[in-house]
Amino acid sequence: MEGKAIRLRSLRKVFGKTEAVAGIDLSIADGEFFSMLGPSGSGKTTVLRMIAGFEAPTSGTVELAGKDVTRLAPFERDVHTVFQDYALFPHMTVEQNVAYGMKVRKTPKAERLRRAEEALASVRLESFGKRRPSQLSGGQRQRVALARALVNRPRVLLLDEPLGALDLKLREQMQIELKELQREVGITFVFVTHDQDEALTMSDRIAVFQDGRLEQTGTPAEIYERPATPFVAGFVGTSNLLAGETAEQVVGKPGTFSVRPEKIRVLKDAADDPEPEHSTATGTVAEVVYLGDATRFLVDLDAGGRLTAVQQNLETSSEDVAAYRGSRVRLQWHHRHNFPISQPS
Ligand code: ATP
Repeated sequence: MEGKAIRLRSLRKVFGKTEAVAGIDLSIADGEFFSMLGPSGSGKTTVLRMIAGFEAPTSGTVELAGKDVTRLAPFERDVHTVFQDYALFPHMTVEQNVAYGMKVRKTPKAERLRRAEEALASVRLESFGKRRPSQLSGGQRQRVALARALVNRPRVLLLDEPLGALDLKLREQMQIELKELQREVGITFVFVTHDQDEALTMSDRIAVFQDGRLEQTGTPAEIYERPATPFVAGFVGTSNLLAGETAEQVVGKPGTFSVRPEKIRVLKDAADDPEPEHSTATGTVAEVVYLGDATRFLVDLDAGGRLTAVQQNLETSSEDVAAYRGSRVRLQWHHRHNFPISQPS
């Protein structure tokens, strides 16, 4: 069995009248890349700050590597936090920034230099040691912040929206680099983000937060393909819910079901009879959006409600796509893509 890096028990935080974290239980394994995903104000940062020790819980406990650290100060915990704004010292060189913590702890100079060099090499900045932060790009500054965290060899790295300030292209590149780096160093990463794609790309597991509560914890595939609640279905990916009468007609049983847009095939209304073991629904195309590599169809169902379907553009052009608007179609998908989701009680 893998060891537990972090364990939260009934963790709760109240600010005045706001219950920011409403009592959560969570275990994170050693070496895991774990993301906390949720909309603004859902409590993820507050949980991260309680793990780091910057915020004291109203009740509940934080354990690191099996030890209760709830009452310990941040510097007494084997964790390091990387913030969105990097918090680099502008008057120091990159190397001095990375070595700063070791200097404070009076590590001998030769060792400081060696470890700073190693950490900079691990984020591919070996030749940037003598520059100042102002002479670096946003992505490079982010890497310096990571090197500064890694140099301390913490057991756990806490990252609070560390890629939030980067433009989309750079962010996507850093997502891949960060995941590779985490695999190399084997440190447990706890990553806060409100970006579902980011969480799906990088994580071993994801916890989805809403209103200070955990809606679901699972692997990216579990969260995406089998959302446990309507909130998760809507927040992670495009919401495609079949409920009430529509569910009875299309799925053939009562309840609420989610189906992912890319599982749905868009056929001409006059297409052959549905294949066995498939759900089907006829409707009218309300909108088509050409996305380059794919096309998104918004279809108003005859049975009521609207579904989004996404198709790869294997042989279609933007002109073909436009011709679909207002036309009659039949949607079809395999039964196994209907996921029952529980309703909030
Ligand atoms: P974001 O993505 O916007 O950072 P979040 O999910 O990280 O959001 P938190 O920052 O944890 O959410 O905030 C949760 C709730 O607690 C919010 O309603 C917020 O206003 C409140 N809150 C957080 N910190 C404090 C504080 N120091 N004093 C009062 N209320 C706070």
